[in-house]
Amino acid sequence: MNDSEKIDYRNFKINGVYQQNDAAELMIRAKLPAGVLSAIQAIAICDASEKYSNGMLHLTCRGNIEIHGLRGDILPQVFQLYNAVGLTTRGACGGAVRSISCATAVADGFPRIQILVRRLHNYFTGHPHFESLPKKFKIAVENGYQGARHLCQDLVMVYLGEEDGRDLCDVWVAGGLGRQPQEGFLLAGRVPFERLIPLIEGVVKVYQKNTPAGKRLKHLVAEIGETEFRALLSKETSGAPAYPVVTPLEAALGGASTPGASGWIEVPVFAGQLSAADLRSVAAIVRDLGDGFLAISRDQNLLVSLSVGIDPVPLKQALQAAGMLKQEKTLQCRACPGSHLCPKGLVPTRDVARQLDATLGDGSRALSWAISGCPNSCSQPQLADYGIIGVRKGSEEKDALYDLYSRSGDGFGKPVREKLTLAELLKAVAELG
Ligand code: SF4
Repeated sequence: MNDSEKIDYRNFKINGVYQQNDAAELMIRAKLPAGVLSAIQAIAICDASEKYSNGMLHLTCRGNIEIHGLRGDILPQVFQLYNAVGLTTRGACGGAVRSISCATAVADGFPRIQILVRRLHNYFTGHPHFESLPKKFKIAVENGYQGARHLCQDLVMVYLGEEDGRDLCDVWVAGGLGRQPQEGFLLAGRVPFERLIPLIEGVVKVYQKNTPAGKRLKHLVAEIGETEFRALLSKETSGAPAYPVVTPLEAALGGASTPGASGWIEVPVFAGQLSAADLRSVAAIVRDLGDGFLAISRDQNLLVSLSVGIDPVPLKQALQAAGMLKQEKTLQCRACPGSHLCPKGLVPTRDVARQLDATLGDGSRALSWAISGCPNSCSQPQLADYGIIGVRKGSEEKDALYDLYSRSGDGFGKPVREKLTLAELLKAVAELG
């Protein structure tokens, strides 16, 4: 690890490490099941960011935390910090089952969903059968059909609740955003929890065995069709045993041991960019006055856990005193790192978010927004009321260009204006009122 420029960092992706630029600066992504982490883990991430990077963090809309701008020679120290508090980065990048995201904030049934997410996280993370996949495989658990989130991942479970002592989910597959958005389809309805792991395992195996490198599950299904996909899946799952998800202890405890079981206090974070100093401040409050847990929401905000017996009043007072709960409403705008940090980024997402913040009228400020630095759509602009995607990089000769999306029906948002300069984009959004 002495001469960082000679190392091929592509081999490190499976460990959540990604090369950002030609100077061999690295990004490391902590993989947080359901976006939940302990205050102690948050402080370890702050330590790593402040000691070995610039003291800034990026919260992702899949509930992970990234540190950017790391040098290769300090990776051992960063992993020591993470290992000491049980943080994993395994499978956070590369061809693996990625972090399992979920409807964290104000989610009915969140204790049950979180038990499911943790079980899946433990099952798939680091499992040699589910690494070296053709490309990433994204799983999410939703608590209902609001929005179009059940349509946009490789595999989504929609939690239906408990009936006759059995937890049930609908399972949707083969969705995705990116350059070729594809809405997923309902694979199986009302699947009991204990049948989920064999079913997911079967889907991942069909994907692994039949898909060329670099392609997602949606590409395989587009190629072979739903009928053939179901036939292949049937062979993979035939005779597979059930796996219990909720243990008797978890069933006995109910939500009592689960972070967020009584709700959350949402701490807004503009465009997912947070200083380690601010996260450290929130983590210390959570450790001293809360239950020791916080989470990253899918809108890239911080969530302070309220589990059974936690009084929210002193927590809110401490967060307000620390300047973390503001009076004015923060614009809800998801943003990927864009050209600020991502090698694929075409436009400066955070700068655009700030300009949006200064431009939008009261009506459009109340809606949800998302900006992605390129058509890969990592901030899920097709799921927001209004989305912006950078489609051309700017230079001295030509302007950067943007597409504006709007979502009105049940599916993904669609482009309503294309190839706008920044000035044209800001004029268009100002006219929304
Ligand atoms: S959308 Fe593009 S620019 Fe943004 S993080 Fe993803 S790949 Fe990078």
